Amino acid sequence: MRLWKQHLEPALLNEHLALLQRQRGACDEVWFASEYGFPPLAFHQDCASRMTHAAAQVRATGIGASLQISNTLGHGDAHQSCDFRGFVWQPMMAVDGKITPYCACPRAPEFHAYLGAFTRAYCAWQPDRLWIDDDLRMHNHQPVANGCFCERCLAGFNVFTGQTWTREALGAAINEHNDLAVREAWLNFGRDSLAGVARTVARAAIVVAPECRLGLQHCDQAWGGYNGPDWEPIFSVLQEVSGHPVGSRPGGGFYVDHRPREMLDKALFTSLQNARLPDGVEISSYECENLPGTVTGKSARGTALECTLALAHGCNSLSFTPLMFPHESAGWHERMLVELATWRPFWARYVAANKQTTNTGIELVLSPRQTLRRLHPGEPPFSWANCGFGSFPQLATLGLPLCWNGKAPAALLCAPAAWGVDAAELRVLLARGLLIDGEAVQVLEQRGLAQVLGLRSRPVGVEWGDISFTDDPLNAGYAGQRITCGGFLFGTARSFELLRGQARCLARYARFDGIAGEMETAAVEFADGGRLVVFGWGLSNPTVTAGRRRQILAAAKWAGRGHWPVTLETPSQVVVVPRVDAKDRVVTVLLLNVSLDSTPSLTLLLHQTTDAEQWTWRRPFDPDVVLAAGETLTLPPLAPWSVGVLAR
Ligand SMILES: [Zn+2]
Repeated sequence: MRLWKQHLEPALLNEHLALLQRQRGACDEVWFASEYGFPPLAFHQDCASRMTHAAAQVRATGIGASLQISNTLGHGDAHQSCDFRGFVWQPMMAVDGKITPYCACPRAPEFHAYLGAFTRAYCAWQPDRLWIDDDLRMHNHQPVANGCFCERCLAGFNVFTGQTWTREALGAAINEHNDLAVREAWLNFGRDSLAGVARTVARAAIVVAPECRLGLQHCDQAWGGYNGPDWEPIFSVLQEVSGHPVGSRPGGGFYVDHRPREMLDKALFTSLQNARLPDGVEISSYECENLPGTVTGKSARGTALECTLALAHGCNSLSFTPLMFPHESAGWHERMLVELATWRPFWARYVAANKQTTNTGIELVLSPRQTLRRLHPGEPPFSWANCGFGSFPQLATLGLPLCWNGKAPAALLCAPAAWGVDAAELRVLLARGLLIDGEAVQVLEQRGLAQVLGLRSRPVGVEWGDISFTDDPLNAGYAGQRITCGGFLFGTARSFELLRGQARCLARYARFDGIAGEMETAAVEFADGGRLVVFGWGLSNPTVTAGRRRQILAAAKWAGRGHWPVTLETPSQVVVVPRVDAKDRVVTVLLLNVSLDSTPSLTLLLHQTTDAEQWTWRRPFDPDVVLAAGETLTLPPLAPWSVGVLAR
């Protein structure tokens, strides 16, 4: 449980501690928060001494006490109501020379001295763990979107590169001039700046609290690409200075559950953060962020479902925010804690079963070099730093297991990520098995890379308003199906001409009178063994027919050469998250009904079970069901927005 003002308000601490003691299953550890903003050092010292007493009170109940360093560089103008009287150093500067009064230059010596001093003050009470908040980043310090271009940082970069950049010239080089070597050096310099800040915090913590474990809270790399492809420089400093394994707290967004399927997007990007952790991370504590912690915000059940998905995507611990906000009644807080305590045994068993496993299925491609793509003419500066995946994460609702595992059986390349791959990466993806859609093919054609795929594409004429399935075995059960697309097709749909490889046509565009035209979907096998499935109509829309759903799942399995974990045969709106062990055997499968209706009984095919294994169907509020061994399992219906886990 993340706290906020409790150490400053004894009555509030007493009230919340009584709640936590009553609902003991909901909490193992609290994180006290250091002050936000940059108050005078004396204020931090006073807070730290009050926290010493509060931490002792918490520990007396058997609950662990840790510390969040809430503010390193600063969160930006969203926090402008905080105390900034201690801010007496170089502010962070944007490429146009604008500064922010709320965020620090990461290389200002006076800032490092202040950060070290207040970290030492707080760590005097020997927190179990220290968590650096996610403002330790080079982007999103509004109004400075991307920093830091101050004189000191420029001078440092010029030493780093042996060059002589001015702010204006550097801004142009990394943006409109597409000088990718300079951009890469600048990103690495930013990573070095972040590692320097982490080193100041880590040294200050360990010098007074040698047993304190260190951790980083962070955001995902598709959104935060300005920080590089991972957070490795910070994690390695935390590990090196402390000499202990470290903690990771992935997260970002999904503050309310008014559009519940958005929890799938967050789960998937959390999975990306988990997939890009270095070795030596012992805890991945999901950030379940209920902001602003109100009764009209995220529901207790929604909170629990979101957390279950985070565990499915590689977290082994959960962190919560409701107690940060005392503006709702203790009764409402208790309702939330009761929910978490009720789910806890189910979560504990699931985490135990998931040890030494990884997500598998279809890897959503995001090249580690995505931020080194060329900026298109007219594109705003720094657009290369983000890769928007649009509605692609929602393909999970077809039962298509999405992940970021580079060893997963097959991969899916969508248009935004197609700007970031090079020819060598494409060849590797084809050798593994690749799914791609018309929009992504168009991007590769614009970049002169379509010859790697061995095809040419063209737009589809307005008269081709339908799609007609062929009798290829991959369409089993749906041969001849006609999908009425009408106007939905136009604009992004493409048809194909294959220049090499053996193509199996899975679907053609069709006219109002039933005449079939050019290829819409093709499964292509190349002489070197590579496999490619092209969907001309696109994959960005998860609202498809049962036949199309079946075709996409069958194509994914085919692209992975049958090396595929699990297929949910029953047409439904159920998310399927399999996890495999080091030998690629399925260990757990999570199923989540993301519709407002109950499902029928669910038929699940497990493709990688060799022994006569026994499977157990576990749900949070029902007794376990032991299932007959075999490759085909029948699961009981799932109620609306409910979840179950299949485990060996
Ligand atoms: Zn600077």
